[in-house]
Amino acid sequence: MPSFTIESSYRLPVFRHRTYEAATIGDACRLAIADEDWQGQKEDYESAGPTFLTGVWPGVDTAYEVPALALPPGFAEGENLPVPDGAASSRSVDQLAAPGTPAVLPRCRHCGSGRISRDANACWDEQTQSWSLLAVYDSQTCEQCGADSNHLVDWFPVAAPGTTDAFRWDVIEALQMPTLADDADFRAFCGEIHASQTIEQAAATWRNRAPG
Ligand SMILES: [Zn+2]
Repeated sequence: MPSFTIESSYRLPVFRHRTYEAATIGDACRLAIADEDWQGQKEDYESAGPTFLTGVWPGVDTAYEVPALALPPGFAEGENLPVPDGAASSRSVDQLAAPGTPAVLPRCRHCGSGRISRDANACWDEQTQSWSLLAVYDSQTCEQCGADSNHLVDWFPVAAPGTTDAFRWDVIEALQMPTLADDADFRAFCGEIHASQTIEQAAATWRNRAPG
């Protein structure tokens, strides 16, 4: 069997905490950006990005020793491997969407709601006269049920409005049972009653026939 030497990489944020004296928050932000002294920097392993590949060479221990091979599609930074079929295909939170990738949204693991917010930090930009996003933190909050955690969500494809899939998610949210996303019986149930029942009726019907 042939051997390949592969260079894998991931992005690791580095941060520092330093106080700046300035007349405005905008001035302080500019001082922080211009500050090139990174003594005492720390690595933010919790926010490390996904692994991607940056080189492939034929043979054992051959990196930069022999001509590189072309990387197969789906392995470079920002590229996604094909997502397996099925609505519950989870994807990593910070994966960047490549062109042509189906749109996804985060949903609360507790109630299934797609109304998720993240803590962030913005500062006033005097040039554009608007708040400009400085950082987005890991902490996520569900606006529906109030749950709060760094690992609150799973990622699901966006359901087009009016489809059975969108209806199914509305019923899941009404029932607050995100585990139903993987349930084949529930999927069939929603397909059958989509045209004839409201979300509330469907939730009640399912609740009455679900064991327990
Ligand atoms: Zn929730």
